[in-house]
Amino acid sequence: MIQLINVSKRYEKTGTVALRKVNLTIKDGEFVFIIGNSGAGKSTMVHMLTCEDVPSRGDVIVDGFNTRRLTRRQIPKYRRRIGIVFQDFKLIPNYTVYDNIAFTLRVVGRRRREIARRVERAMELVGLTEKADVYPDQLSGGEQQRVAVARAIVNNPSLIIADEPTGNVDPSLSVEIMKMLLRINQMGITVVVVTHEQHLVDQMNQRVVRIEKGRVVSDTSDEETEAEE
Ligand code: ADP
Repeated sequence: MIQLINVSKRYEKTGTVALRKVNLTIKDGEFVFIIGNSGAGKSTMVHMLTCEDVPSRGDVIVDGFNTRRLTRRQIPKYRRRIGIVFQDFKLIPNYTVYDNIAFTLRVVGRRRREIARRVERAMELVGLTEKADVYPDQLSGGEQQRVAVARAIVNNPSLIIADEPTGNVDPSLSVEIMKMLLRINQMGITVVVVTHEQHLVDQMNQRVVRIEKGRVVSDTSDEETEAEE
């Protein structure tokens, strides 16, 4: 479970307040869109979840860990529980598709056989098995993002965070990327997708949390609760 409790973030250097008393709970296995215009505070929220930064006030609690209390040694371990998909893919250019996906498993010293099993399964899930030996620059944006998704899931994370995953993908393939994230969610992984692309969100029929000027201004899960009452 993810909990943001009264989270505010002020960037001290500029005095910008990027998040204002944000309260948000995401249950295990949920699929949530975080949407908002540029400057709304979406990236700041992602950084809170990935523990790249901590709140100025309030707490972020992920799977029982308060990010504020993680020690320097605990942070890498914490991050390995999260799969992150970036707008600009962040693939290693001189590594093949296979090696890009295998990279983190090798870093943590998994055995060859286990790596092969997991990488093959991840490639299968994103439909890239036949591209194992290809380099990123030989792939389309959509395919590169599929590699990034495979890399994010290969370590069996409990949570996937996708930060503008369709930003560098041909619009005609954006829906495919979103559907792929939905399939991954259906495997039981919590998925948080940050985007400003309203038209994509509208097609997916999932929970939508909207932020404006650092505040949560709407959450479709509240509407459902109200409707039930
Ligand atoms: P979004 O991802 O929705 O575009 P951000 O979280 O990047 O929004 O930014 C929210 C606000 O915080 C903006 O006004 C932005 O200029 C500011 N901001 C973001 N990062 C920093 C930073 N490192 N230092 C100072 N201000 C920042």
